[in-house]
Amino acid sequence: MNAASVQVIEVGPRDGLQNEPVTLSVEQKVTYVESLVKAGLRRIEVVSFVNPARVPQMAGAEEVMAAVPRTDGVSYAGLVLNERGLDRALAAGVDEVNVVVVASETFSQRNQGASITESSAMAARVVSRAQDAGLRTTVTIAAAFGCPFEGEVPTDRVTELARRCDASGVDEIALADTIGVAVPADVRRVVSAVREVTGRPLRLHLHNTRNTGYANAITAVEMGVAALDASSGGIGGCPFAPNATGNIATEDLVYLLSRSGIDSGLALDDLLTPSALVAQLLGAPVPALLPRAGDFPGRQP
Ligand code: MG
Repeated sequence: MNAASVQVIEVGPRDGLQNEPVTLSVEQKVTYVESLVKAGLRRIEVVSFVNPARVPQMAGAEEVMAAVPRTDGVSYAGLVLNERGLDRALAAGVDEVNVVVVASETFSQRNQGASITESSAMAARVVSRAQDAGLRTTVTIAAAFGCPFEGEVPTDRVTELARRCDASGVDEIALADTIGVAVPADVRRVVSAVREVTGRPLRLHLHNTRNTGYANAITAVEMGVAALDASSGGIGGCPFAPNATGNIATEDLVYLLSRSGIDSGLALDDLLTPSALVAQLLGAPVPALLPRAGDFPGRQP
């Protein structure tokens, strides 16, 4: 069941930048977002409404939201970890809210200072309030494929969370391989199990930490998952931490999709501009390979 088209959700400005050693200014972030819009991205996770003392890279979320181009058809998402984050997201005028719950108790406590039970109740309140405000909503189930502290995450914990997400009325459920441990067999197992408990649209958030991100992406597409997160340039990895690498890269994903006959509405040539821009802003080459290798067939770099 190959999806004929896949929606690519650009998360570079949020998940990419929040893990980079270099913190961009508000102006630089806005330039990057403008470049992504020009490249054709239509759903962009631009900011995270977290405490900037905890994540300095995400400081200035309100200023970024106030300055990004409000082009027709472009939807800007803000990530929130609690209702205080939602208050900020609503005030900042985001188009959609992505609220996180974590499928591991230890990681949940460390990431949001709340238990799984507390944060899934919080997520339901966030979904309800955001929908009342007319926003599109996503719940991301983080560490759905493995936890950095507890190791294996039982599938039934993910399905139980998916069941609670479904009950909240959320518009979309994202399954996140937060630390990049999944292989295609895991994607098949978890996606199939989640499908048993919800008919809501599924989205996958993949990291390429162990070089399995693209295999996981195509596996998800083959299972009918119609939305994938990616970051332009594949940013998000710290060059000094070999076990922390970025999201799958938007341009590498689009090459894979396009050569597989799956439409994303995106053109590789256009995507090389924001990728080159973010490399320049971060002062380091990006992990993506297409900027080096070029499209095939066609113009070589
Ligand atoms: Mg991530």
